[in-house]
Amino acid sequence: MFDSLRKAFSNVAQSLGEKELNEKDIEDILFELEISLLESDVAGEVIDSIKSDLKEKLIGSKVDKNEIEKFVKDNLISSISSLFDNVGSIDIFEKIDEKKKKNQPFLIVFVGINGTGKTTSLAKFASLLQEKKYSVVIAAADTFRAGAIEQLREHTNRLNLKLVAQNYESDPAAVARDAVLYAKSHKTDCVLIDTAGRMQTSKNLMEQIEKIIKVVNPDMTIFVGDSLAGNDTVNQAREFHEYVKFDGSILTKSDADAKGGAALSIAKVTSTPVLYLGTGQEYSDLKSFDKDIFLETVFGSLNDVTIEKTDVSKLTTPEPEPTPEPEPTPEPEPTPEPEPTPEPEPEVLSDDPFDGIKDDEIAKYSDLFDVPPPESDSEAVKLGNKIRQWIKDGKPNSDESKITSLDKEEMHKQDKEEEPKKKRGLFGRFKK
Ligand code: GDP
Repeated sequence: MFDSLRKAFSNVAQSLGEKELNEKDIEDILFELEISLLESDVAGEVIDSIKSDLKEKLIGSKVDKNEIEKFVKDNLISSISSLFDNVGSIDIFEKIDEKKKKNQPFLIVFVGINGTGKTTSLAKFASLLQEKKYSVVIAAADTFRAGAIEQLREHTNRLNLKLVAQNYESDPAAVARDAVLYAKSHKTDCVLIDTAGRMQTSKNLMEQIEKIIKVVNPDMTIFVGDSLAGNDTVNQAREFHEYVKFDGSILTKSDADAKGGAALSIAKVTSTPVLYLGTGQEYSDLKSFDKDIFLETVFGSLNDVTIEKTDVSKLTTPEPEPTPEPEPTPEPEPTPEPEPTPEPEPEVLSDDPFDGIKDDEIAKYSDLFDVPPPESDSEAVKLGNKIRQWIKDGKPNSDESKITSLDKEEMHKQDKEEEPKKKRGLFGRFKK
């Protein structure tokens, strides 16, 4: 099953595994992939989508040489997986239950070309419904093909189901409506309506199906396609979809399908899910389409594969982290103005400004300071210093050295400009 598709994907993965990833090589390999996919009945637009997806991931990616094969395989799987995911899925039984709750039958119209396995698939689905305990009525609305009614009768007899049929050439829409009326009056859960399937290009056929759909307003329309017919089936699906907008498809004969491209193509081309695969001629040979089983059939085990959109960023040179804006250098604290050095206090060796001066020495120089006694500390200190100077240098002769009242006034002035000083009461020894 699906051998051809499996080979196509495995070839591309292996070929890339032996090469460096330069653009020319990638183009060559993608071209080979395209040919293989065409041979596997994959539709052109699907091939384009797979190729461009893969190319985008390969170009510019820096993958370890030994990892390329896995990288390509993983990307192909992700790309195909998301292709199926994009068309969604339908839980038919949930929908049937919803209608059942409203006491209304669920109506399904089956469309497709003669010989694809439409009647057989309808019977298989009827059998599945029975298994799930739903009641079913079948409408033989293919009143054109000789033997169509008998073929259905055979199935309904085997399955013990009600068949609503009229004569050949009668109005198919009328047959479908009769079946719906029957279902409503008998509280039947589902009505399965078979339709004619002349060549899909027949305008008449499409109009007939459109009419049935208009008359019965089905809950679902299912396209049945033969997966062995490959691209023919894809074209049939495209054409039917244009007229009747079906909701999903059943692909028959996949048990004999060596190619496998039909499921991929029909899902992508019609944007509707593949609902079931026919896998044989027994009633039980109808399997729900499972994306993972499809991928495993084509690619082998998915155990070590993460099926998601590949994060290419991990494989390419990562963008350098943006350099953080440098922290603004804080404005330097303004250097504080140096504290003004306080004026040195007039040197006082002790509390007594006349320390070290003997009383008789003070008396000796008394004629040099014929002014009132000092009235402030600094005046006393200055006077004491003067006396010391006189002692050291000898008593001056000139009257110039005399401390006059004018000098005293000057001292007073300076004292007032300086911080007022606490009177120390230091003048006890000062005698005039
Ligand atoms: P219709 O003309 O579209 O209604 O096609 P039929 O239902 O008559 O089927 C045509 C042939 O295909 C019959 O011989 C079926 O047994 C066979 N057939 C239908 N579905 C499958 C399938 O899934 N696998 C295989 N191997 N054969 C199938």
